[in-house]
This record gives sequence, structure tokens and C-alpha cells, in this order.
Amino acid sequence: MSNCIFCKIIDKSIAAKIVYEDNDIIVFNDIHPKADIHYLIIPKVHIESMLHLESKHTELMGKIMLKTNMIAQEAGLLGYKININTGVKGGQEVFHLHLHLLGNK
Ligand code: 5GP
Ligand code: ZN
Repeated sequence: MSNCIFCKIIDKSIAAKIVYEDNDIIVFNDIHPKADIHYLIIPKVHIESMLHLESKHTELMGKIMLKTNMIAQEAGLLGYKININTGVKGGQEVFHLHLHLLGNK
């Protein structure tokens, strides 16, 4: 989506510190980290929020959860939090679905 910050990170027209990428997912450092590790895990397909999930996204979301856990362990985290702010009332500011992975070493 042309005016979406995270789509611009996906197409590399905005720079980000990318820590993982494959055909479906990209993971990068949050620009304002709130923990030692603060990654944003996003699908490459533009889905606005959890409120916009459809059954066709089931496999993608499962992959995101498994990959998030793998990346947390590779970062050396013994435990972590996942936040998914959803909708304006849920504190969402960027309307491209993303998981916050937060952990302290
Ligand atoms: P939300 O409130 O939508 O769940 O969180 C959006 C997150 O995106 C915030 O933690 C914010 O710091 C991060 N963010 C916003 N713009 C950019 C950007 O251009 N680059 C990166 N790396 N993170 C961003
Ligand atoms: Zn987007």
C-alpha cells in the first residue's frame, strides 16, 4: 500500500535495521525501542490490523508465531512479551499488522 510506512520498509524505500526476511515475513528493529530487544514482526502482505484477519491468513499467522519464537531464542531471550496493538482504541499507530517482540537480556 503506497502510503504505508511498513510497506515502504518492505520495498526498501524507507531504511530499517532488518534482522530477518523471507518471502512472507520481515523483522526489523523498532525505531523507538522499549526493551533491550524490540523487534517488529510483520507480514509482507498489507493487512491493516488483527481486525482485518481472514481465514485465508491462518497459515501465515501460524508461520509468524513460530518464526517470532525462533527469532526470540536466536536473540538469546529466555522470555519475552508479544504485543499486538489493535485498532485506534487498542493503541495501534501504524495500520499494517505487526507484532512487537519485547525482551530484556
Ligand atoms: P503501534 O502503536 O502501531 O503498535 O506501534 C508502531 C511502532 O512502530 C512504534 O513502536 C514505533 O516506534 C514504530 N515505528 C514507527 N515508524 C517507524 C519507522 O519508520 N521505522 C521503524 N523501524 N519503526 C517505526
Ligand atoms: Zn503496509
